[in-house]
Amino acid sequence: MKYYSTRSRNSPVNFAEAALTGLAPDGGLFIPEEIPPYPAAVRASLGKMDYRDIALETIRPYVAGEIPGPVLEELVRAAYPFDAPLVAAGDRLILELFHGPTAAFKDFGARFMAHAFSWLRRNEDRPLHILVATSGDTGGAVADGFFGVEGISVTVLYPRGRVSPLQEKQIAGLGGNIAALSVEGSFDDCQALVKAAFADSGLRKRLVLSSANSINVSRLIPQAAYYAAAAGRAFDGKTCPDGEATPRARETGTGPRAGNAARFGAAAGQPPAMCVPSGNFGNLTAGLYAMKMGAPIARFIAATNINRTVPDYLAGAEYEARPSRATISNAMDVGAPSNFERMASHWSGEELRRMIRGAWVSDGDTRKTIEAVRREYGYFLDPHSAVGWNAADQLALSGALGAGPLAILATAHPAKFAETVEPLAGPPPVPASLRRVMGREIRARAIPADLEALKELL
Ligand SMILES: *Cc1c(COP(=O)(O)O)cnc(C)c1O
Repeated sequence: MKYYSTRSRNSPVNFAEAALTGLAPDGGLFIPEEIPPYPAAVRASLGKMDYRDIALETIRPYVAGEIPGPVLEELVRAAYPFDAPLVAAGDRLILELFHGPTAAFKDFGARFMAHAFSWLRRNEDRPLHILVATSGDTGGAVADGFFGVEGISVTVLYPRGRVSPLQEKQIAGLGGNIAALSVEGSFDDCQALVKAAFADSGLRKRLVLSSANSINVSRLIPQAAYYAAAAGRAFDGKTCPDGEATPRARETGTGPRAGNAARFGAAAGQPPAMCVPSGNFGNLTAGLYAMKMGAPIARFIAATNINRTVPDYLAGAEYEARPSRATISNAMDVGAPSNFERMASHWSGEELRRMIRGAWVSDGDTRKTIEAVRREYGYFLDPHSAVGWNAADQLALSGALGAGPLAILATAHPAKFAETVEPLAGPPPVPASLRRVMGREIRARAIPADLEALKELL
């Protein structure tokens, strides 16, 4: 498969180069030259296949000729020892993307990327240094994904005092090949430091540097797999049993639709609408890939907080990037979503508006939703997933959703955001992955937001 920059079709590269360099030299994002359809036999059995087999079928054509089949199979098995269960809450479906080690969906992209990088660089004798700036979730997923991976070291820069204590332990509690730098400054300062390091010719001569941010195509492609798995199951009218991490209260709520999975059964046999809590729009772009590959998906809902750049665009306005504003769903505080360039390069505005409906949600309504869904269905939503639930409410009211099943992507476990969830819904159950993290000791180096300080440590 060839990959092009969103800004020019002149210099195609292969998967390895697109993945290892991250951003195209002209500043664009890499996109595959085509989005290959699933074979008919795969498409027909998505609802029955094991998650790892779906991941394999999804990724295979994008790395064809570069990663041999048996190797890819091994990478996928190593990356995904956990599932993406589709459970019912009332007559809605929830695609739980938090059963991985850091309890957020970024594990799906980061873990494949880590295993792929390690294999792609197997014959290099110089170690690869990955620099990543994070506002919270990305740093944890990347750190965990690359922990113990041979030939690669990772440096995570995070803003001191501005990530949650749990996130800090995910980033700075590993040690080994993962270095954590607690930067005296904001997330923007961390990002500026990473950019300055990449632009420093002395450093580039001394070290092989790479990045791992969310625009990397090797994080995007594997995310298409959970859409295909969930859409296949929803179409077949099947839900999964609760997993160890499923945040359901023992008593399942008191509302009229509590525990009513049978209502969902009536909508089966039709492709589902899928609602995606969005910030940088990598997750939703992966959903569009799954749909184009042939997964049975009727349409998408782009759910944002008050950073409503894309919902406004989908409602007919000109695309206008804005400064981001802080909310309680902070992993989605993005006013200039970087993956929009990728979406717009694959599809026209008219096509995007046909495939995606947008809605945005205030912090007040996000809180009300967390409280109401716990009370009526006995299910704990984290603030990001609650934005998705409320956006779906808005569109259902306006009749925009059709008669098929409705699946909401739950992008993080509520226990990761207990400080917000607990006052509204009581304490959410804590999954084993997060209990393990809580016992870790933070081993971070404090540095000023200064390139010389960073260079010294590298
Ligand atoms: C990163 C993140 C998002 C936003 O995903 P994008 O791909 O940037 O749109 C939503 N929810 C959580 C919990 C996240 O960590």
